Amino acid sequence: MAINSGSSSLKFQLFVMPEEELIVKGLFERIGSKEGIAFSYSLNNEKKAFTIEGTTHQEAVSFLIDFLMKEQLVASLEEITGVGHRVAHGGEYFKASSLVEEKESQMIHELSKLAPLHNPVNLAGIEAFKAALPGCPQVAIFDTAFHQTLPTSQYLYPIPMKYYREDKIRKYGFHGTSHQFVAQVGANILDKPLEELKLITCHLGNGASICGIKEGKSHMTSMGFTPIAGLMMGTRCGDLDPSVVTYLQEEKGYTAEEMNTILNNESGLLGVSELSNDFRDVIAAADMGEEQAIISLDMFTSKVKQTIGAYAAELGGVDGIIFTAGIGENSSWVREKCCEGLSFLGATIDVDSNNQSKEIISTKESTTAILVVPTNEELMIAKETMAIISK
Ligand code: ADP
Repeated sequence: MAINSGSSSLKFQLFVMPEEELIVKGLFERIGSKEGIAFSYSLNNEKKAFTIEGTTHQEAVSFLIDFLMKEQLVASLEEITGVGHRVAHGGEYFKASSLVEEKESQMIHELSKLAPLHNPVNLAGIEAFKAALPGCPQVAIFDTAFHQTLPTSQYLYPIPMKYYREDKIRKYGFHGTSHQFVAQVGANILDKPLEELKLITCHLGNGASICGIKEGKSHMTSMGFTPIAGLMMGTRCGDLDPSVVTYLQEEKGYTAEEMNTILNNESGLLGVSELSNDFRDVIAAADMGEEQAIISLDMFTSKVKQTIGAYAAELGGVDGIIFTAGIGENSSWVREKCCEGLSFLGATIDVDSNNQSKEIISTKESTTAILVVPTNEELMIAKETMAIISK
């Protein structure tokens, strides 16, 4: 069972492993609201949705367990041999996925300081499954773990070292599961061992990040101490001159919390387009000639391109550029804009393949392949879970 729990949601996918066969997937939303929890699922290509009673993650999980039995999706609860949970922050402590017992729960709790919006709800999901399925191993898969291979020169910030030593201020990076997954699939498509490739993976969704991968390991990545850093995103600003923050606080009297809201929830595509954080809305507005929408898209794609260029320089060349997530998988326009002018790196888009979102969208002559690889974080969670519990 692969679980991704958010503050008011819990997504699940149940797989038969190692066959990677999906049995059922679904989503609980509006957890915490007085009107009940919205539950939707898809089974045999049929989608259903209704509201259930309850207000907590625990109630959602209890309902799910009963539902699996009632629908005869499992014959007995013993058939669920492991539950894998996406956990946002593993700090420097978790360098890989891990079984969650008392000590690990405590560590995830302590790391909440670094991810106050995510780690507590991830832990709530783990606790809910521990209660509902006693004895079933719970595994944590960390967004940060894949990036624990970043060299020191990549993860330190050029500020006094005491803030790293005392407060653990450094780059951690996120979306690790996705970058790792699409890199491996990309290597399979290119029919080369991952360890022999230099790859740049572009996870472009509502949250967006880029990773430079060398010898199968994350070497550099655009998100930082928190997931606000790097690229411009749906509502997040990405990299910014730090003085912008202190200047606004001084000029407008904003508190740290208010600045956080502005930079996390009101910036990015939404802030510049003044319309929407949803890429489809912004592109529709740009097509209608809305100037702010056009500018915001130019900013977004330019930042992606700059990052690809910088990463190619640091990696000393690149064998493959991989696009994934909501925007990366679906928008041929974005892929074309981000790769425009990259022929000097040996990367040239083939317009037809790109428009059809084929696996390989670069021309035959390109020495750097450009790929579209759908991410599947839930499958990666299931694979990691199986690997951990079979140890
Ligand atoms: P997250 O998981 O970070 O919420 P997703 O990976 O689901 O994000 O991506 C969401 C983004 O993908 C939204 O901005 C949405 O507009 C965009 N998107 C989804 N489908 C398409 C499409 N067909 N064309 C362009 N953009 C799309």
